[in-house]
This record gives sequence, C-alpha cells and structure tokens, in this order.
Amino acid sequence: MASSGAAGAGGMRAVIFLGPPGAGKGTQAKRMAALLHLPHLSTGDMLREHVASGSALGRQAQPIMARGELVPDEIVLGMVEERIGRADASAGFVLDGFPRTLEQARRLDDIFLRRGIGSPRVIGFTVSHEAILRRLAGRRTCKLGGEIYHLEDHPPKVAGRCDVDGGELVQRPDDRPEVIRERLAAYERQTEPLLGYYRRQGLLVEVNGEQDRESISRELEAILTSRPGAGTVA
Ligand code: AMP
Repeated sequence: MASSGAAGAGGMRAVIFLGPPGAGKGTQAKRMAALLHLPHLSTGDMLREHVASGSALGRQAQPIMARGELVPDEIVLGMVEERIGRADASAGFVLDGFPRTLEQARRLDDIFLRRGIGSPRVIGFTVSHEAILRRLAGRRTCKLGGEIYHLEDHPPKVAGRCDVDGGELVQRPDDRPEVIRERLAAYERQTEPLLGYYRRQGLLVEVNGEQDRESISRELEAILTSRPGAGTVA
C-alpha cells in the first residue's frame, strides 16, 4: 500500500495550484502543503512581503499589483528559483499562484529538469465568474498570519479579528471591484492557456472550486495522496 502523504517515487514532489483569483486555491494550497509536510510557496504572498518591507523589488511590483496586472516574469522567476533552492524545499513544495504565464511554465520546466525534479501534479480550479466576484468581494485576510476568511462563507468568530492569532482582518487592496476586473482579464489572457499546456502533458487534474472548503479539501487529499497517474491519464 502506498503510504499517504509520503513523497512519490523519485523523492521530490512538486504540486502546482492553478486557477482564477478567488477560486479558493490559496486556502487549499496552504492546507495541502501542511498535510504533505511541504512548504507553501505563494508568489502573491512573497510579493506582498516585498511590498510591505519596501524592498527594491517590492517598490517595482507595488504599482503593477495595485492595477491587477501581472508583474514581469523575470521578477517572479528569480524569486521562485531562489525559494525552491532552500533546504526546507528539498523534499518538494506546493506552488500557489505560479506559474501564471506560458513563459513562466516553460522556464519552470527548465528549473525542474536542471534540479532533477520530476513532473508536477497540477490542480486546476474551475469556478464561474459570478462565484469569483462573490468570493473576492467577501474575502478578508489576517494582517498577521495571512489566514483567509469570507464574510458569509467562513466568517471569523469575532468580527474583524482572526480566530487563530487575533490579528486584524483586512481587505486586500486588489480585491476592489475595479481591480478584480483587471485581474480576471489577466487570468483569462495569460494564465488560462496553462490549463491546456498541462492537460496535454497528462498532468492536470481539474477540481470544481464551487464546492465548500471541506469537500474540496477531501477531494484534493484523495488526489494528492494517491499515486501520480492513478485514475488519470498516466
Ligand atoms: P495572488 O495573491 O496570487 O492573487 O497575487 C497577487 C498579485 O501578485 C497578482 O495580481 C500579480 O500582480 C502578482 N503575482 C503573483 N504571482 C504572480 C506570478 N506568478 N506572475 C506575475 N505576477 C504575479
């Protein structure tokens, strides 16, 4: 019997979470990373940390993120390559929000090849436009730990405060309606083609992101603790 959560054959395991903003991929990527004992690598979180710290990279990225556009490939590629080279990523990692362009996906393949990392498992979230708008409008994030809430679907016990660490819950500046429109357009134009890219390689598993959090987690757990290729195109 395959042991659950352990690395697949070859040791290193990479999982990619792909989907439109508001699909719930951040929430699920964090949960699955914890389950698999792998680091959760969110390029959005990394960029927000740069913005918060006022680094040169953060100052370059901030206006682009505020408009809801994608930051240049070179910036995110450099961040990701540095991050997956760290010791805690030696058994694998969960990528959340990366890759987001075909160029990023191709360059990620090169990185995998160079480092001897096998094919990733790719989870694609499908969610309707309507659900995305609802999700993003109600999303609130803890300023301290990054825990994600939704005013209706997953409210905190005390309004405005994180259940985990009591941190203040805030709305991301790019979750405002005018920016959401641009982020969705960027997704459709630049990121959606990646579904086909990974589907053609037999690496994509699609998940209905409109189910509740617990159902999606159960489904992902079953997918990610099964052997790669089991029940899908090998
Ligand atoms: P997220 O938290 O994943 O929604 O990312 C927030 C913002 O960070 C995006 O709207 C982009 O401006 C930027 N960003 C995050 N990941 C990437 C990426 N892989 N490529 C380009 N821009 C990114």
